[in-house]
Amino acid sequence: MNNIDNIKEYAKINRVPIINDEGLVFLLEQINKYQVKEVLEIGSAIAYSAIMMAKNGANVTTIERDQKMYEQAIKNIADLGLTTKIKVVYKDALTAFADVASKEYDLLFIDAAKAQYEKFFNLYTPLLKKGGIIICDNLDFHGLVETDLTQYKRHLRQMLTKIKKFRTFLINNPDYITTIYKIGDGLSLSIKK
Ligand code: SAH
Ligand code: MG
Repeated sequence: MNNIDNIKEYAKINRVPIINDEGLVFLLEQINKYQVKEVLEIGSAIAYSAIMMAKNGANVTTIERDQKMYEQAIKNIADLGLTTKIKVVYKDALTAFADVASKEYDLLFIDAAKAQYEKFFNLYTPLLKKGGIIICDNLDFHGLVETDLTQYKRHLRQMLTKIKKFRTFLINNPDYITTIYKIGDGLSLSIKK
């Protein structure tokens, strides 16, 4: 027996960083508002967000590089009877373009390694339809992005610096209209002009 509550419970126990409730509400609201039919997700984890988007009517193509996550994602999708709605690509998203390029998408949801967001953005936005949207998760990184970064160890500091740079990149990108929301763990919404 498996359902969404079991998947959330598994995520909690195993510390899988699935989108939080507030972020999920925002994500699903945009899917309805922009009538999203085709989603490309970077970072499946155990397919929690993919399953919620599919339950809202979208077809989801999602990329995951970690074997354990990938296997759990496949299991959860099968258990919920969503194999025809969700396709999981088991690869590093930096090298998965050819695997997902056979269609165009209404929504690109970026939720994988935070230091690579700009690379994911540049690689996959060409697959967006005109008027398509990009949503990025964790741009506040548990509230740490807006604190004094000098207090953190090198690795964390570098990651937070990258997120800051990515936020600036988004806001200044002339091809998109971007708003960054202080909801969930910090979410951006960019609309392709
Ligand atoms: N979207 C999920 C949570 C994803 S957590 C949800 O809200 O339910 C981030 C995931 O991205 C992790 O499982 C991690 O293994 C994966 N990931 C990180 N970098 C990646 C990359 N370069 N390519 C593919 N997957 C990546
Ligand atoms: Mg996230």
